[in-house]
Amino acid sequence: MIIDTHAHITDVKFDADREVVVQRAFDVGVKKIFEIACETCYWDKALELSKSDDIFVSFGIHPNNASKTSRENFNRLETLLQDKKCIAVGEIGLDYHYDSSLQNINSQKELFIKQFEIAVKYGKPVIIHCRDAYDDMIGIFKEYKFASKGVIHCFSGSLKQAEIFIEMGFLLGIGGTLTYKKSDNLKQVVFKTPISTLLSETDCPYLAPQKYRGQRNEPSYIIETLREIAGIKKISFSETTQIMAQNALKLFGLY
Ligand SMILES: [Zn+2]
Repeated sequence: MIIDTHAHITDVKFDADREVVVQRAFDVGVKKIFEIACETCYWDKALELSKSDDIFVSFGIHPNNASKTSRENFNRLETLLQDKKCIAVGEIGLDYHYDSSLQNINSQKELFIKQFEIAVKYGKPVIIHCRDAYDDMIGIFKEYKFASKGVIHCFSGSLKQAEIFIEMGFLLGIGGTLTYKKSDNLKQVVFKTPISTLLSETDCPYLAPQKYRGQRNEPSYIIETLREIAGIKKISFSETTQIMAQNALKLFGLY
């Protein structure tokens, strides 16, 4: 079984051929897709999409929208979390990548903590977006000691940071960037960490694997990342897919 644990197929880039893209994923063996609706404007569309049997959904507010979030958004989020197809809160987190984002670090932290508290309240795992902010993220987890679980999506930190997150009970989301030529650091992280702590994801339409680099990414391309993981771990492709699917089903309570 193959699961894409992180897709954005409600994105406008799929408006022309969304059904074809989803079918292509199922044709190559993808059994479940987790749609990540992390902007309020995508929530309804994602809810609609999740009416399809094998598509599940996560709701949240991305740190890039930290400055334009209202109390109504949080109320709606709480309602959405009670939907039977909702598996998580996310992606939520911290993003210090752009100079402009450094001006609202406090509102990013506030938004993140607020949503983490909501996740804990409803017993949902969190899907964490963290860009150039791993040490601050670790600091927040240490300070607040949230009794929750989740995944550090599209992990790109150091081995040391990976070990800290794993120690805290988080899994690492591994995407197409693993297949890039200059991904020695991430390859090392995958090599050194137990496969039970890894999840496979695409983050489509972003971050297409090397073979399709520069093009729109889609869930069927997850095969490329899984092949790479199998190669690094020196186990068969089918065993890799089996273990990683189990990791996802377990984290998101889909038994
Ligand atoms: Zn994403």
